[in-house]
Amino acid sequence: MGEGIETKRIFIGGRWVESEGDGVQEIFNPANGEVIAHAPRGSQADVDRAVEAARRAFDGGWGESTPGERSQALLGLAALVEAHGEELARLESQNVGKPISPTLSDEIPPTVDALRFFAAGARCLEGRATTEYARGFTSMIRREPVGVVGSIAPWNYPLQMAVWKLGPALAAGNTVVLKPSEWTPLTALRFAELAAEVLPPGVLNVITGDGEPVGAGIVRHPGVGMVSLTGDVGTGKEVARAAAATLKKVHLELGGKAPVVVFDDCDLDSTVEGIKTGAFFNSGQDCTAATRVLVSEKRFDDFVGRLLPAVEGLKVGDPADTSTEMGPVVSSEQLERVTGFVERAVSKGGEVLTGGGPVSRAGFWYRPTVLVPPGQRSEIVQREVFGPVITVQRFSDEDTAVAWANDVDYGLAASVWTRDVGRAMRMARRLQFGTVWVNTHILLVSEMPHGGFKQSGYGKDLSSYSIEEYTQVKHVMVSLE
Ligand code: NAD
Repeated sequence: MGEGIETKRIFIGGRWVESEGDGVQEIFNPANGEVIAHAPRGSQADVDRAVEAARRAFDGGWGESTPGERSQALLGLAALVEAHGEELARLESQNVGKPISPTLSDEIPPTVDALRFFAAGARCLEGRATTEYARGFTSMIRREPVGVVGSIAPWNYPLQMAVWKLGPALAAGNTVVLKPSEWTPLTALRFAELAAEVLPPGVLNVITGDGEPVGAGIVRHPGVGMVSLTGDVGTGKEVARAAAATLKKVHLELGGKAPVVVFDDCDLDSTVEGIKTGAFFNSGQDCTAATRVLVSEKRFDDFVGRLLPAVEGLKVGDPADTSTEMGPVVSSEQLERVTGFVERAVSKGGEVLTGGGPVSRAGFWYRPTVLVPPGQRSEIVQREVFGPVITVQRFSDEDTAVAWANDVDYGLAASVWTRDVGRAMRMARRLQFGTVWVNTHILLVSEMPHGGFKQSGYGKDLSSYSIEEYTQVKHVMVSLE
């Protein structure tokens, strides 16, 4: 596939096959709006074939592979991503509009590292210690793979999110049917092709197409034992509802609306720098993006006075230019969505401090934006914008900061900026989010879990917790007679 320009083909059973779907989807470069590729609009028949191939691969040996064998395969995948890092980063940059430098430095290496972590994790997965809970009988726990796992990925980090899903699933001994986002399938398809060098046919299958019929088809399929989705809260609810029909296990990594609580004793320079990175990385299209900045009223003016020039200084431009810090948003739909959020906020009394509109040039561009929202309950504070837009609010005391920070349906990530250790620890306890950062934001590591509270979903990505998610626990009891 090389440059990723491919039509009518998906990856099933270790090779390219024609899709039985209806037509192709245009794949755009968001930086200029041009069509750079086509991908099949898959069908239920494609889902059926992929699930069959995955089942055959599971029954044909992968389901009985040793942890060491799976670990070797995952190390092989890591080596392939590392060796093809530049090519994959370029594809990702063209398809998502990501600036090439941070894609190369901050997305490819952690993706390789995650695969290496899952390779190690495959060998450490264990049940609890064996013992005699009833006299004369030994009990043991087996952690077994679920079988065929359906993985459904979003468009914001197409390769990284795919790896976060397929890595632990494979480590635990499952086979996988992966559906990338219909907007950004190129790196997942290329990854599948590369993976065929180290994985037996059918262990990883990649099919493209829309949420319905392909994503929903995976969820409905009785041969799929578990579905893992990274996506919107609404999609998560639909998937959970549909999965109930076959009582499938569901793993949901959904949206976020991270509060960033800035206390008066913080180091203002590093706070501003951290928020600039945490808020505008990937054009703010990040589920953990530092979107809701709550600032102590004692330092509010000082803080805003430093934040605005930092945001205005962001280098927005051609993603292929190595000095670019921020590119476009992913699609015309996303541009419309972001524009609508800001317009509605302004119409309700919100005040734009900088940015506040699209950039008129080819492609899908929005200016880095900071605004004072029209109140804590306003839409722009309560709902995920998923673009380069942040709000700043002033709070009077710690209790108010905690109340506002927790006052959203989401619970994925939060950060606290203070030099007071006791306050930092109090906040870490009181904030209802799956990750709480202190004096930093957005950094993840393979060893630690990433996942939400509340409507940000359930199930953890990364860490040994994620590998356990893709297993089922079996009790075996043996009579000692
Ligand atoms: P989305 O929900 O629109 O789509 C995600 C995937 O689900 C796509 O592949 C889509 O085709 C598929 N899908 C859509 N409808 C479906 C259905 N009915 N059944 C099965 N599959 C279906 O999300 P998106 O716009 O691609 O991604 C952005 C969202 O993802 C944001 O809300 C973001 O916060 C979230 N996200 C969360 C995390 C996390 O770790 N929590 C990470 C990245 C992105």
